[in-house]
Amino acid sequence: MAALTEEQNLLKEQAKTWAGEEAPVAKFREMRDRKTEAGFDKATWAGIGELGWPGIVVPEAFGGVDMGHLTFGVVLEELGRQLTASPLLASGLVGANALRLAGSEAQQSAWLPGIADATAIVTLAVDERPHHAPYGTALQAEKTGAGYRLSGEKKHVLEGGSADAFVVVARTGGKPGDAEGLSLFLVEAGQGGVSSQRLTLADSRGYANVNFDGVEVGADALLGSEGGAAPVLDQILDRARAGLAAEMLGVAGQSFDMTLDYLKNRVQFGEVIGGFQALGHRAAECFTKLELTRSCVEAALQAIDEAGDSHSQELALLCSLSKAKAGDFLHHMSNEMIQLHGGIGVTDEFDAGLYLKRARATEATFGNASFHRDRYATLLGY
Ligand SMILES: Cc1cc2nc3c(=O)[nH]c(=O)nc-3n(C[C@H](O)[C@H](O)[C@H](O)COP(=O)(O)OP(=O)(O)OC[C@H]3O[C@@H](n4cnc5c(N)ncnc54)[C@H](O)[C@@H]3O)c2cc1C
Repeated sequence: MAALTEEQNLLKEQAKTWAGEEAPVAKFREMRDRKTEAGFDKATWAGIGELGWPGIVVPEAFGGVDMGHLTFGVVLEELGRQLTASPLLASGLVGANALRLAGSEAQQSAWLPGIADATAIVTLAVDERPHHAPYGTALQAEKTGAGYRLSGEKKHVLEGGSADAFVVVARTGGKPGDAEGLSLFLVEAGQGGVSSQRLTLADSRGYANVNFDGVEVGADALLGSEGGAAPVLDQILDRARAGLAAEMLGVAGQSFDMTLDYLKNRVQFGEVIGGFQALGHRAAECFTKLELTRSCVEAALQAIDEAGDSHSQELALLCSLSKAKAGDFLHHMSNEMIQLHGGIGVTDEFDAGLYLKRARATEATFGNASFHRDRYATLLGY
């Protein structure tokens, strides 16, 4: 377990209290039942903005607090515990990092302050198929006299229906599957030719398929170098994966706590069911896996902070390890939660199903455990 600083401990306490009081799982359930179009509660998002959390990795010069990824992870974990739905990860972590790592001074000034105070949502539009495959990008960015014309579709874009702008992964050269020829573009949602179609996924959050139908952008929409975006895209995605793994750790941690509580309180056959050795062993196994997952997630977040704005193979390995471990454990823990709660686990009235559904969606986002095991092995030359 990482040794948190006093500041991080205070933030953890603040996030825990705020999420428990202002954005508990009951509020997520209400939002789901109302079928809120955005997939998050606007007042909850505004509250998160007031707390300054979307600015945690935004540099101070652009209105953020630049407190690093381990700090961000602490907050994401606590919100994950309550299934709080918001664009915090998609915009505050992924959008902010895309601009921070690849954006020009002008692009950063235009968007980072809005990300930091939650008045703008900037999200990454990367995948085009049900499975995560950043290099599989086919969306074309064709050079025109004044800039580029983007044509293609992105699937399952996080907060895609509410975003003000997209960082779009496009192909300016090569063919799908190649690392070479990828470029990043900043495209505003209101631009001609951009349309989105809201998706309803298992976890009831805000996803959309986004279509770019001959969208004309100027040369100033390019983030970073033309055709050479693969390394920075990997870096942005690795930060997204480690941050999401922290949120998943929170979802799994709360699933564990709720299950343990049930085992300690549910009386059957004349005694509390946690007294049965078979169930105690299952709880102990979950606990050890939870701690192992925490070590992997915190190691990745700490390594990101230590690396500053640079990236390395070691860091990529840690990020893939954290996402694979969080994916495996959350899958296991959410299943155990349902089963150990007996018949009530599968009922909608009980929260376990909401945790299972969030688990399944996050397991697949930014690469599932198989994707990351394969990437880990490939990076090591297997
Ligand atoms: C939608 C739905 C579909 C279902 N379909 C089926 C079906 O097709 N077939 C079927 O058989 N059942 C079915 N069930 C019933 C379900 O399998 C039982 O609810 C489940 O076995 C848990 O029993 P319980 O509700 O009595 O849990 P509880 O009595 O609350 O027990 C809680 C937990 O205690 C533990 N436990 C239970 N018995 C023991 C024991 N003897 N020793 C040690 N630990 C124990 C288990 O971990 C259990 O999950 C269904 C239930 C639902 C809600």
